[in-house]
Amino acid sequence: MGILGEERVLIDGVLRAASSGRVFETINPATEEVLGVAADCDVTDLDNAIGAARRSFDETTWSTDVAFRVKCIRQLRDAFLAHSDEIRAMTIAETGSPLMLTYSAQLDTPVEALGWIADLAESYEWEHDLGRAEPFGMPAHRWTRREATGVIAAITPWNVPHQINLAKVGPALAAGNTVVLKPAPDTPWCATILGRLIAEETDIPAGVFNVVTSTDHGIGAALTSDPRVDQISFTGSTATGRSVMRSASETLKKVFLELGGKSAFVVLDDADLKGATGIAAFTVCTHAGQGCAITTRLVVPRAQLDEAVSLTAATLAKLPAGDPTDGGTVCGPLVSARQRERVEGYIRLAVEEGGTIVTGGGRPSNMDRGFFVEPTLITGVSNDARVAQEEIFGPVLVVIPHDGDEDAVRIANDSVYGLSGSVWSGDRDRAVGVANAMRTGTVGVNGGIWFSPDVPFGGYKQSGVGREMGVAGFEEYLETKSIAEPA
Ligand code: NAD
Repeated sequence: MGILGEERVLIDGVLRAASSGRVFETINPATEEVLGVAADCDVTDLDNAIGAARRSFDETTWSTDVAFRVKCIRQLRDAFLAHSDEIRAMTIAETGSPLMLTYSAQLDTPVEALGWIADLAESYEWEHDLGRAEPFGMPAHRWTRREATGVIAAITPWNVPHQINLAKVGPALAAGNTVVLKPAPDTPWCATILGRLIAEETDIPAGVFNVVTSTDHGIGAALTSDPRVDQISFTGSTATGRSVMRSASETLKKVFLELGGKSAFVVLDDADLKGATGIAAFTVCTHAGQGCAITTRLVVPRAQLDEAVSLTAATLAKLPAGDPTDGGTVCGPLVSARQRERVEGYIRLAVEEGGTIVTGGGRPSNMDRGFFVEPTLITGVSNDARVAQEEIFGPVLVVIPHDGDEDAVRIANDSVYGLSGSVWSGDRDRAVGVANAMRTGTVGVNGGIWFSPDVPFGGYKQSGVGREMGVAGFEEYLETKSIAEPA
């Protein structure tokens, strides 16, 4: 089984090198080996990509031909399925994601979601009759019509690249928009392969989808200010999200933001403590904690604190960081040396803040290469500590004691973020009550999994603006036009 990499970008229907001829390396985070290269695009390439997307939106029937778009999106899903073994291998090599996760969020779920979005576009009520009324005494027949927004700039991070790329590109294209995708420089191939499949295995016309890879974050910034772009769909850190919103305000673009999180895993005093802490430990190890919606604060009853800590530590010890190609690995490497330094910096900070490292805290002794960090459990800090407030984006769990349900909700909500959460109780209604009180975009009750193509995902507070996936995620890419005629 080979690695299906792609060094070229897709601009205006042509798979090509950067106009400067420059390339950059893509690295396997588990081995530190260079996998290959990708085009290092500059503003000339970006200008061509935006120009192509603008022309294909303004001058072709792409935005109005729903049946054709539905056919194209299904072709794209089929192309992914036809190459799924090679793409799976490439995804593990480029992202460091454990194999087991490629059967869900890292590959198969986003590909499945392309089928879901094609079905939605096919059955969608594009026009809605509002009937007759007599505004100002003048009889009128009114209706609304949903139309594509225009040129979408999709700017994405490296942690779950297919999921995030396809959760933007799928609905944006199905809704009739054209797209310029700017992925993170850490995972270029997960985006360029999408360009290649679109160019070679679908009828999607030239210019409708463009991808621009670059080491220059300024390319992303340039997309957010270009007047030819109608909407920004951004996933990344809250700091970058702020700058995207500022930059897009000059031309008043629609802005859709999926940002950071510091989600709480709340255990109530009647919960199965062993089961709940086991899941909390497993969750924070998943893809080495590099998921915006991963629960990273374990909020447990004060009376059960010691027991919760020892149960959680015992599970973490059974989930060591390891080779992501091994089907049993949950915790792979961090994506880069830079990201590992960041995580290690937070582990040091926990100690400076008076915390105790119960387990982990270092690099695994059995791995001599790769950007690995041991699953780590921190206790002895309050919810005000920086390690309990800031996004670490590593396999690091902070335990905070609570004094009852209200206090648990207060702690969960005491965060600038509001992306996700989890609540555990022996009493379902009690758990749902706490879920309802949590100021977050998603909550799992007693382990319920909300992640699915039809379920909207997004953040409250500084975790974002808007929703991805589900009908809400499709409608993010639509304008509403209201029309009236004399009746
Ligand atoms: P990042 O914000 O550094 O970069 C994200 C993307 O933005 C990259 O493609 C980058 O090149 C680009 N970029 C950088 N500066 C820019 C600018 N000024 N203008 C426009 N684009 C710019 O994030 P990252 O380090 O790649 O990813 C990790 C972060 O992403 C974490 O904070 C994580 O929580 C967040 N994330 C959020 C979600 C979500 O759905 N809420 C999902 C995954 C990751």
